[in-house]
Amino acid sequence: MPTFQKNLENLATLALRLGVNLQPGQRLVLIGPVEAVDLLRRIARQAYELGSPHVHVELLDEQMGLIRALHAHDDTLDTVDEERTAMLKAKLERGDAYVRVSGSDPDLMAPADPARVARITKAASVANRPVGDLVQRAHMPWTILAYATPAWARKAFPDLPEAEAVAKLWDAIFAATRADQEDPVAAWEAHLAQLQRANDHLNARGYTALHLKAPGTDLRLGLADTHVWESGGSAALVNGARFVANMPTEEVFTAPHARRVDGVISSSKPLSYQGRLIDRFQLTFRDGEVVGVTAEQGQAALEKLLEIDEGARRLGEVALVPHQSPISQGGLLFYNTLFDENAACHVALGRAYETTMKDGTQRPLEDLQADGFNQSYTHVDFMFGSEALDVDGERPDGTLEPVMRGGAWAF
Ligand code: ZN
Ligand code: ZN
Repeated sequence: MPTFQKNLENLATLALRLGVNLQPGQRLVLIGPVEAVDLLRRIARQAYELGSPHVHVELLDEQMGLIRALHAHDDTLDTVDEERTAMLKAKLERGDAYVRVSGSDPDLMAPADPARVARITKAASVANRPVGDLVQRAHMPWTILAYATPAWARKAFPDLPEAEAVAKLWDAIFAATRADQEDPVAAWEAHLAQLQRANDHLNARGYTALHLKAPGTDLRLGLADTHVWESGGSAALVNGARFVANMPTEEVFTAPHARRVDGVISSSKPLSYQGRLIDRFQLTFRDGEVVGVTAEQGQAALEKLLEIDEGARRLGEVALVPHQSPISQGGLLFYNTLFDENAACHVALGRAYETTMKDGTQRPLEDLQADGFNQSYTHVDFMFGSEALDVDGERPDGTLEPVMRGGAWAF
């Protein structure tokens, strides 16, 4: 088999064996862009070979989203597809595994009015809440991985001819997901064990806050009471199977305290949000809430994001990624959060993950919120990490310990 075909086959294997850890008899929901049909077919075939009784496939053409944003009548933008949400919810509630392939054009929505895009996005995220809940609570195993679409490759390598750009992006995806290794599953097991070591250290130290310092960043980021650090794999509630939600994943992450974040934080990489680029921006926090925002590019889109709801102005995730991670060392800006967030330390505006709270998937939401868990309809990551980042952990008695120095683990 030629190398490219072999790597693509490996990616399908990783999605099923590590990503969702598909079990014989378990159904699969498989959603991805039309451009990715060759990968989707491989995943479907391997799923049947592993004993899945049925694979539900949705091929998406993202141009349809742009067409709607440009041409739908203004008074129809809040209309949502309730029937599709109900169908997905029923499948996932049953415990079907869920594989999502992404490959969006980062500039897709550039021709559309951001206010119209924001309305469509908000209506969809409210309507999709039942599905989002199942995902966030790790009800069933799910994973997201990427496919090098031409539109995305052109954005990542603007100076190359399209075919070359696509080939380069594939090389970067295969390297980041370890799909190009001789035994990709074994390579992942070794990687997950390393993440676990950092994860265990952070949980053992019991920090109440992190202090982030870098050029343009000076933030005291309180951690939620009863937060837990998480990395790599999670256990699905429905069958207890360990799944890996993001391929690649390099992060160790937890829940900030929604009401205890103070200071300023500056982005270290552009954020591609709803088809728009937001770049070189700074957020000022007081008592957990964003009270000031400046962006050299995409300020309007950033303000729209902050206006989605009350929780969109607060943090729901802080993730530590060593600057030495393979994705970071590659130096490529992917314009895709799945990759870029694994290149650098990041925080997310919006909803926190229940899995980053002690017994979080079993406790009532109000209980979690009392401990500082942030609730929102959105969750958008942005990067603040660099080789100039220092992180200290604050112990319950107020003493500080080094966690990262110059973007590398300090323990
Ligand atoms: Zn993250
Ligand atoms: Zn995130």
